[in-house]
Amino acid sequence: MNLYEYQGKKIFQKYSIPTTRGILIDRDYENDYVFLQELQQQLKYPVVIKAQVKVGGRGKAGGIKIANNSEEFMKFTKQIFSMDIKGIRVNKILIDEYVPIEKEFYMSFIIDRSLSIPVFIFSPSGGVDIEEVAEKYPEKISKEYISNLDLFDFQIRNAILRVYREDINHVKQIESIALKLYRLFRENNCVLAEINPLVLSGSNFIALDSKIILDENAIDSIEDEEDESRSPLEEEAKRLGLAYVELDGNIGVIGNGAGLVMYTIDLINLYGGKAANFLDIGGGARADRVKQSVTLVLKNPKVKGLFINIFGGITRCDEVAYGIIEAYNEKEYNIPLVVRLQGTNYEEGKRILEKLKERISFEFTESAEKGAELITSLVK
Ligand code: GDP
Ligand code: MN
Repeated sequence: MNLYEYQGKKIFQKYSIPTTRGILIDRDYENDYVFLQELQQQLKYPVVIKAQVKVGGRGKAGGIKIANNSEEFMKFTKQIFSMDIKGIRVNKILIDEYVPIEKEFYMSFIIDRSLSIPVFIFSPSGGVDIEEVAEKYPEKISKEYISNLDLFDFQIRNAILRVYREDINHVKQIESIALKLYRLFRENNCVLAEINPLVLSGSNFIALDSKIILDENAIDSIEDEEDESRSPLEEEAKRLGLAYVELDGNIGVIGNGAGLVMYTIDLINLYGGKAANFLDIGGGARADRVKQSVTLVLKNPKVKGLFINIFGGITRCDEVAYGIIEAYNEKEYNIPLVVRLQGTNYEEGKRILEKLKERISFEFTESAEKGAELITSLVK
């Protein structure tokens, strides 16, 4: 279900996302004389007159106008009430505070349809359709997949910094709004929560538009927890709190961070292989979580090889190495294994894994590309 801009802005207020406070009017608002009198007294010009229809591009279609006095106000509201925008009649208008704009940004959380996990999208080129930005200036868009159960502040901050680092105070404000928007997104079962434009006005950020889409199936999916579209392994993963999605290939994939896992799957594709799953162990995973992950991925009978791709940050390579060994202590798996370790405690991780070499053959690498190439050639 798609919400109107004014409904979305009410939800923004509930989550303390700075936004404008407007007044909603119906097409017959002039008939209520008392309301009209009050309205005329309340309005501080200029005001922004915004058609409330559930389609984007209202600005371009003439559905948004700035009125500088009451004459313009009467003229523009009349005009807009007699319009239809992309075939939709305008029945409600939001009379909004006018906000001077220094710069327009784009921000959203959206469910990625192929993986069913949220993605944070941010761009310092807002105000226009994000598809348009994606086409013309792909380098101006930052995306961050969020497959761990909790969103980490630094994930958002890094995503912002990748495309905007002009002013650290701005970055902090944007980050704070993003974290609030994420909470809104999760708590309301959103498919999309978008602010476009998020504007810089003076030294403050304000949401000037809202687009919120709620998941129609949210209520159903809460009612039947045993979703039949989930495979038995996906069910098990869910119980363990692991972000695991089954795919159609035969190469098991484990990584830390959804972005890295996505990249790993792409790399395997590039070398002619096919991933059997998506599994993100999240940030800071300890050995037991790694062990659970390896065991789970290798339970899938289609898996003919395993690629573990870890870029250590808060995740420590030694913990990962211990986890792998523990999984292999419980069961001997006779399929090709490639481990790529890089980052925090990498030397230590490598040393621990050396012991595994005495029992099974596996390849060790420091590069994701090399690892993907290796596992693809070993599985073929
Ligand atoms: P959409 O075209 O349907 O997405 O409607 P928006 O609410 O996003 O408005 C489109 C554009 O109108 C924004 O990108 C702004 O440039 C402009 N606009 C909307 N509200 C205001 C406002 O309060 N002040 C100013 N200066 N511009 C506004
Ligand atoms: Mn907009």
